[in-house]
Amino acid sequence: MTINWGWLTFIVVVFILAVVLLVMCFCLFFDQALLTRRGTVYRVKSSKKQIALTFDDGPSPLWTPKILDELKKANIKATFFMIGHHVKKYPEIARRVIEEGHTIGNHGYAHSVMIYYTLPEIEEEIKYSEVVIKEATGVTTNIFRPPKAWLSKELKIKIKSMGYQIVLWSLNSKDWVSFNHKYIVKYITRHVKPGDILLFHDSGDVFKAEGGDRLQTVLAIPLLAETLKAKGYEFVSIREMLT
Ligand SMILES: [Zn+2]
Repeated sequence: MTINWGWLTFIVVVFILAVVLLVMCFCLFFDQALLTRRGTVYRVKSSKKQIALTFDDGPSPLWTPKILDELKKANIKATFFMIGHHVKKYPEIARRVIEEGHTIGNHGYAHSVMIYYTLPEIEEEIKYSEVVIKEATGVTTNIFRPPKAWLSKELKIKIKSMGYQIVLWSLNSKDWVSFNHKYIVKYITRHVKPGDILLFHDSGDVFKAEGGDRLQTVLAIPLLAETLKAKGYEFVSIREMLT
């Protein structure tokens, strides 16, 4: 039998492209937090029309101040899950977050995927980030959000034994993909429910946790505030939502 190398190459290339496309669609549209919600706080059952805005991966010297400016204009208190390594680099921005009445949560020190960590490793990672946040802001946080939402049952038990509540989200803005802010707001408005915890980012993008272009996030805040306040929603911090 003669092998038609041309066709074989074509079929292999199409197969590889199809796999890449499938992986990209999975990353863009599937929210992995759906798989790891058990034993965490991801939304709050409430009769009040309250929602909490959360921003992950900061502080960023470029984007966090712009986000803080928009939150101040809209009179919204939010929650920032910060990476310890970024707090160490930009402590003055972490301080501004606290000074303006927002809440800080722990997002680990190095933004590593933690699902394969040992118990001593997870303790060290969270404690070190806790110390860095305390040194920068004077605040000790007791809420933790794992990078990419991935945690095993064993790690969740360990983190809770350290006095932390594990907070995920119920509505993912997917802002890290840099969709247009009007689309982000339209998507949230269509799906939002009382007690939702919304995920945004004040740093990073699809490939990295620092830098990135968060302009669409910045632009989304005033439009989201106007749209949801008109529907009777109140924006509160995680701390307020949990009390
Ligand atoms: Zn993150």
